[in-house]
Amino acid sequence: MKNFECTVCHNREGKELLLINKPDRFEVSIGVSARGYERRWVECLECGTVNNVLPDDSLNRIAALRSAYYEVDFQGSDVSQKYELVMSLPPDQSDNAGRVNRVISFCERWFENRSNFKVMDIGAGTGVFLSRLVDQTDGKWDCLGVEPDPRAAEHLKRIDKFRVHEGLYSGGADFVGFNLVTLNKVLEHIEHPEPFLRDVVESLDSENGIIYIEVPDTMTIDLRPPNDNILGALHCHLYDPRSLSNLLHMTGLSILSVARVADPSGKLTVYAFAAPTQAIMRKEFPHE
Ligand SMILES: [Zn+2]
Repeated sequence: MKNFECTVCHNREGKELLLINKPDRFEVSIGVSARGYERRWVECLECGTVNNVLPDDSLNRIAALRSAYYEVDFQGSDVSQKYELVMSLPPDQSDNAGRVNRVISFCERWFENRSNFKVMDIGAGTGVFLSRLVDQTDGKWDCLGVEPDPRAAEHLKRIDKFRVHEGLYSGGADFVGFNLVTLNKVLEHIEHPEPFLRDVVESLDSENGIIYIEVPDTMTIDLRPPNDNILGALHCHLYDPRSLSNLLHMTGLSILSVARVADPSGKLTVYAFAAPTQAIMRKEFPHE
C-alpha cells in the first residue's frame, strides 16, 4: 500500500489488515474531525509488526496524548480506586496475578542467586503489578516503579510498597544495574521502539539481567471488535511472537521465552523474556 513505512524496520511494503473510519474517544477528546477519517492497521511485510497508520490530522495532535496516557484514561475515575479494585480481584480474574506468577517462576529458574535482586517496572501505572510482586517475594526484591503521569506517581508514592521515579524513563546513569526490567503494555505506546529498547538494555546488570515485555497481540484484529481499546489511536503497534522476537533481536537481545496468552480480562497478549546475547554467552549453566 501507498505511503507506508514501518516504524520498526523502515520497510515500505505493507498489507492493510483493518480500516477504521471514525475517530476513537481519545481523538474525539482532542478535536479530530470525523469527516473523511481513515485509520489503518497495516502489517509490515518484512518484520511482521502491525503499524497503526493515522491520518495526518490525528497524528499531529495525538503525539502529546500518547505520553500522557493516564490523563485521559483515568478521566473521571481515581487511580487509587482502580488500584483497590484490581488488587481485590481473585487471582483467576486478574491479568496481573498471572503476570506476576509468570515473572517470579521464570526468575527463580533463571537466576541462581537472587540476593540484592533489582527490579525496574517502566510505566508502573496503578502499581498493581509491582505491589503483587513485592508481596509474593516477601519484600526481598528491590523494586523501582517509573511513572510519568503525576497523579499515578503520587498514588504510587502513597501506597509506599516500592521506590517511585516520577517522570518518563530516559535511560542513562540514573537507571543502571537492574536484574529485571519489566515493560507491561508500554512498548505499543512508543512509536520508535528500537532506540527505546536499546536504552533499556543499557539499564540491565551487564552480567545478570533480563527483560520481560508484554505487548498486545496482532490476533486482536481478528478476534476482538474493531472498537476494542487496544485498536485505538494511542497504540502504535501490534505484535506476534515473530515480530516481537525480531524487534528484540534488533536490539542485541536473545529470546529466552516467547508466547501468546489470553488474559482473564479478554486481552490477547504476546510476552517475552530476553537477555543480552553477550551475557548469555558468559552465563555459567550448572551441568551434571
Ligand atoms: Zn517492519
